[in-house]
Amino acid sequence: MKFSTRLNIPPSETLAINTLANKKKAAGERVYNLSAGEPLVQTPPVIIDAAVAALQAEKTNYTPMAGILELRETASTWLNKQYGADFSVAETFVTNGGKFGLYALCQTLLNPGDEAIIIAPYWVSYAAMVQLAGGCPIVLHTKEEEQWKLDVGDLERSITQKTTCLILNNGSNPTGVLYTKEELQNILHVCAQRNILVISDEVYSGLVYDGHEYISCSSLGQYKDTVIVVHSMSKNFGMTGWRVGFVFGREALIQKLTTLQGQSTSNTASVSQWAAVAAFEHANDIIPSMQATLQSRRDIFFTEFERIFHYQLSLPPCGLYYFIPLTAFGVRETDSVAFCSRVLAEANVAMVPGAAFAMEGYVRCSFGVSEDEIIEALAALHAYLKKK
Ligand code: PLP
Repeated sequence: MKFSTRLNIPPSETLAINTLANKKKAAGERVYNLSAGEPLVQTPPVIIDAAVAALQAEKTNYTPMAGILELRETASTWLNKQYGADFSVAETFVTNGGKFGLYALCQTLLNPGDEAIIIAPYWVSYAAMVQLAGGCPIVLHTKEEEQWKLDVGDLERSITQKTTCLILNNGSNPTGVLYTKEELQNILHVCAQRNILVISDEVYSGLVYDGHEYISCSSLGQYKDTVIVVHSMSKNFGMTGWRVGFVFGREALIQKLTTLQGQSTSNTASVSQWAAVAAFEHANDIIPSMQATLQSRRDIFFTEFERIFHYQLSLPPCGLYYFIPLTAFGVRETDSVAFCSRVLAEANVAMVPGAAFAMEGYVRCSFGVSEDEIIEALAALHAYLKKK
């Protein structure tokens, strides 16, 4: 069989590790999973009740392509209130998770050869999505000693005639980096001056810790013409499998996205959309409760890691992950793929290699799993490494 060369991209390594871990589990092995890209929590009952009610009311047909009006209304109202944004219903698009929102944006905005700037360590799918659209990812590297923050000078120097957009992950996967208002203003200013779009991926916005404030690019209204915001029900509401995400942007963009969705997936599952409406109605209870659960898991991870490995991790201010240098585990190797492969094969502990995020010498560990899982996983990892 002959395949399209467009698919000459690597498969998602995070999903691949997770799949291998699940396979071992299915074969009856005890696997300690620190690779999960999601908060492992029950979807709150009010959301499930709303989904059941939608099914019973037979709300099971195709929906409008850009989403049901009720969800576009509650989503835009939530964003506007939460972050001081100003998006209308017509500027709100419902899609199959933030992931398809990002994919659809790349397909909508990039022509062959167009450049999209992405910031490493970056979420595994950005580069592939840009390539799938025929674009060219331009990778800017950041450093741990600079809190993984984008240097505006680097950004300015990387811009060319072909630069179309910057993909900015505020509250990042894998580093948890969180930008201040001033930093965002500087980035958006540089981009606006050169007429470059900023796709702001804000899917972890509710999972901020230690009293940090989350600043959304949507709150910087003077840049509305060049800012596109991607959101999701997945992480903030514990709804990863429901596949509901959003794009907020100018109406002309939303119309293009609607055309693309109409010719591809048609719409997000009707039941999931009704469940999302209920989730937003209870956002003031659900998000703080998610945040508290995950802050507690993050802190347990920190304490256990320090107790076992005698190494103090940097506390991520946002998100679901620790991005840990291999030296923290007391090993000398630098190849993160080899390290994660042998640890999964021999100790049944799943972590994601930094190489998947374009950053060698690190691994990503998720604290989205239960506290017991964190404690047992770190103990198993330590017991294995001690023997080596
Ligand atoms: N953006 C980032 C940075 C992510 O980590 C993820 C998922 O892991 C997504 C977007 C997409 O999430 P979803 O499609 O579940 O909304």
